[in-house]
Amino acid sequence: MRKRYAMAVDTARCVGCSACVIACKTENALPSGGFRDWIAEETRGAFPALSMEIRSERCNQCSRPSCVSACPTGASHVADGGVVGVTRAKCTGCKACVASCPYGARYVHPEGFVDKCTFCLHRVREGKLPACVETCPTRALTFGDLADPASRVAELTRSRRVKVLQPGSGNEPNVFFLT
Ligand code: SF4
Ligand code: SF4
Ligand code: SF4
Repeated sequence: MRKRYAMAVDTARCVGCSACVIACKTENALPSGGFRDWIAEETRGAFPALSMEIRSERCNQCSRPSCVSACPTGASHVADGGVVGVTRAKCTGCKACVASCPYGARYVHPEGFVDKCTFCLHRVREGKLPACVETCPTRALTFGDLADPASRVAELTRSRRVKVLQPGSGNEPNVFFLT
């Protein structure tokens, strides 16, 4: 069966420590000011019944990626397990993909190409976990193959209350937030 890589982000476990952001920067040698993941904080409810949701966010590796459709050169493409990649040599830095991503998941690298989360495919191909997943001290992040019903990520998305960001975007995200 074709793999469908996905991530579950447990918002009850995430404490916003940014270890995932730092691990990603180091693992992927990101430039100053460039980020493939980030922390979002959202306040919910009305006083005094306020609650705060903290989320580690990144590219959703969408099943219907508008960034790939928008890319005029074919640099943005779908790779192993449905992960959306950018071929640097083909990227002209036109930013059509940046404008078309509803999630703000892409940035322009100082060397002129567009960059984004790769689900650390270079590590996954070696049987390792993405750097952010491995680093998270609270085990808030779970990576795996959603097409495998026995995987932990499949089990979590079945057994927990789940949401995706901007479900109306039409992009069909593969990052799931456990609430
Ligand atoms: Fe949240 Fe884990 Fe990232 Fe810390 S490392 S911000 S707990 S997801
Ligand atoms: Fe493309 Fe944005 Fe979806 Fe990532 S989140 S696959 S960059 S549309
Ligand atoms: Fe960064 Fe890899 Fe995590 Fe994506 S999966 S946010 S590239 S560390």
